[in-house]
Amino acid sequence: MTRKIFNSIIIVAGTILLSSVIIIMGCLYNYFEDVRERGLKDELKLSMAAVEDDGVHYLEKVKSDRYRITWIAADGTVIYDTAANSEEHENHLERMEVKSALENGEGESNRYSDTLFEKTMYYAKRMNDGSVLRISTSSATVGLLVLGMLQPILIVVVIALIMSGILAGRLSKRIVKPLNDLNLEKPLENDTYEEISPLLLRISRQNKEIKAQVKAIQQRAAEFEQITGCMNEGLVLMDKDGIILSINPAANRIFSLDESCVGRDFLTVYRDHEMNLCIKNAIESGHCEIQQTRFGREYQFDASRIESDDEMIGIILLIFDITERVQAERNRREFTANVSHELKTPLQGIIGSAELIENGMVKQEDLPRFIGHIRKEASRLVILVGDIIRLSQLDEKAELIKEEINLLQLVEETTENLKDIAKDKNIEISIDGKQVIIYGVRKLLYEIIYNLCDNAIKYNIYGGNIKISITKNNQNAVLTVADTGIGIPQEHLDRVFERFYRVDKSHSKETGGTGLGLSIVKHAVAYHHGKIDIESKVNNGTTITIKFPM
Ligand code: ADP
Repeated sequence: MTRKIFNSIIIVAGTILLSSVIIIMGCLYNYFEDVRERGLKDELKLSMAAVEDDGVHYLEKVKSDRYRITWIAADGTVIYDTAANSEEHENHLERMEVKSALENGEGESNRYSDTLFEKTMYYAKRMNDGSVLRISTSSATVGLLVLGMLQPILIVVVIALIMSGILAGRLSKRIVKPLNDLNLEKPLENDTYEEISPLLLRISRQNKEIKAQVKAIQQRAAEFEQITGCMNEGLVLMDKDGIILSINPAANRIFSLDESCVGRDFLTVYRDHEMNLCIKNAIESGHCEIQQTRFGREYQFDASRIESDDEMIGIILLIFDITERVQAERNRREFTANVSHELKTPLQGIIGSAELIENGMVKQEDLPRFIGHIRKEASRLVILVGDIIRLSQLDEKAELIKEEINLLQLVEETTENLKDIAKDKNIEISIDGKQVIIYGVRKLLYEIIYNLCDNAIKYNIYGGNIKISITKNNQNAVLTVADTGIGIPQEHLDRVFERFYRVDKSHSKETGGTGLGLSIVKHAVAYHHGKIDIESKVNNGTTITIKFPM
């Protein structure tokens, strides 16, 4: 910019200087030529008067370096020439100025030397006797004048160019400085040339637009970070080369990484062959899923190719915790297998006994025992199917009708239904507590109390006792069922709430247990957002405490 301004100033200054010199020289030359012409004419007039009086004598006396006077006869022969002998001259009749003077009384012409550096001006006039007197003078032409003045002109031009250079340098700097000092952050606050005001106005407008766009982008980025930060699912965004662009806290946890991994190659920070293949697969086919176990939990990794205008621009990796789903699936499979097994055993017993009777292989006196066995197994099946139905209803998580329930009253009703089997084992049931009202599902609360008391009887010793208490503490209604039975070994305590889990299978079957009672209790308590605690000592009894939030 500075150089351009500098060059422009130099060119303009040079052009002005040159044209000034040419114009001035042209004007001066014309002026002096005019003066010379007038002087020449005056001189001729004076010479004519003198020649008419004195003839050749006058001309012989006039010896001038500046002027040359030629006296030409009417026939063109030179009578006298102050510059040379008349004999040496050819006939002048054809000379333009002479010809014109003879015809019109006066004539003039200019002739140039071969080199064009000398110009000779002729002026002729006819005298009274018909002869012509001609005066001429030579002078340098403009070309010679310029050549003669070349040195001073060059000196002036060089000085002028140096001065212009210095001036142009300073000027260009002065012009550019305010532009360099412009504050483009606040364009309207600049005090500079009026001419660039529209530009500054446009910059100011664009600045505002850029600021608004940056703000919108930042806001969107913050929103994105907030959303992904709250996600339970892991999210990793990579560019087309697998460089991590963004990773949310959940993904950092799953891969044991931190924020510093952003900008690095994902496959170098998480070296795993299966993952490597999955991402390559997603790049090639668009999508790939794998499952892996990390820190004891099951995860599903979904890698997908991101495209824009049919061109791959990145990869998105979503990570889902599917531990519960996998567990539920496993439980479902186990449950199905267990149910089939549990159903098959009594059915086989029934079929076996029935076949023996049918084939007449049972003696008459053994018949009641076999029929009794069939009835017992069939009853077990009914109880089992009942428990399975109850459990699957709880699994459905259907919304059941809740009502205010007096827990003490419900315990009394339930134990009333169990009093016969308790009596069979000479077991004493004592109920202690106050009236506690909770908001719950009557059917489920009945199941809880029934199963706990049923177990307390089933796994009790002959003549033992059961203590049921209902209390209230810290916003909880607390139901405790304590027995003096066989107890549960410590290593089984965690598992007795699993479906079909029995500590002693034969004992459980003997007492008509299905292995589903405590599972139903667990689900029913969870439905009421309650908590179960179990304490037990082998041969010393079991205490199960359930807290219902009120
Ligand atoms: P079951 O129908 O076999 O009783 P449950 O789910 O009710 O099944 O109980 C699971 C297992 O827990 C029982 O088989 C039994 O071994 C043990 N158990 C449950 N309650 C008691 C208790 N009060 N005393 C001793 N063992 C118990």
